Amino acid sequence: MKLLQVQEMRAAYGRIEVLHGVSLHIDAGEIVALIGANGAGKTTLLRTLSGVHPLASGGIVFGGEDMSAQPSQVRLRAGMAQVPEGRQVFGPLSVRDNLLMGAYVRDQAEVPQDIERVLDMFPILREKQHLPAGSLSGGQQQMLALGRALMARPRLLLLDEPSMGLAPVIVHEVFRIIRQLRTQGTTILLVEQNAHLALTVADRAYVMESGRIAFTGDSRAVRSDPMVQKAYLGL
Ligand code: ATP
Repeated sequence: MKLLQVQEMRAAYGRIEVLHGVSLHIDAGEIVALIGANGAGKTTLLRTLSGVHPLASGGIVFGGEDMSAQPSQVRLRAGMAQVPEGRQVFGPLSVRDNLLMGAYVRDQAEVPQDIERVLDMFPILREKQHLPAGSLSGGQQQMLALGRALMARPRLLLLDEPSMGLAPVIVHEVFRIIRQLRTQGTTILLVEQNAHLALTVADRAYVMESGRIAFTGDSRAVRSDPMVQKAYLGL
């Protein structure tokens, strides 16, 4: 089943168009990677999907509903949750309160049980739940940003550069959790500079260049494409 269908998405900053008609889809249960060089438009695509950046033209259909003109809260309520680049946790608030903020759009009855589920998934967050989020290390803040997004019970998780700035051992842990989420049925769009890592975990991938999709296929096909190997895998 197609969970997300994006048709000819265009987006701009002022008069400068940076997405020039991007089409892609994501089926329920997939992990789909979006790779590409700095400035290719990956973050803009995620932000346009979640509704924090305006769609200039094109269509976004999510769960069978046309979201193209809907504000970000409606998209979040429908099940699209974004983990932004650079994490953006609320530093002065406690870890627990940051998690609770992730659940503000939804029915509150099951929040206590979901908090427990997230704290089970990230034992370090349980340990530090009463400390200010700003006191956590970068890796722990990435876990918190993920946990906060999960509190919205997303059907589609939009992950922007989850490995950025993290030590390899923490990156490994973040990717272990991404795999675990998939086995629990969460669909994921993963934006990653680290193409090698992204293609290891993803079912399919889109390669973006200068605001367009340059190549797409299952991860194996993308990994063995000579252009991708040269430009993104350093082979
Ligand atoms: P990165 O990996 O560096 O985040 P990206 O693939 O996510 O790169 P975007 O951040 O989406 O790319 O940027 C796409 C284009 O839009 C780039 O040319 C960038 O310079 C431009 N751009 C991004 N943000 C803004 C902004 N706030 N104002 C003007 N131009 C912007």
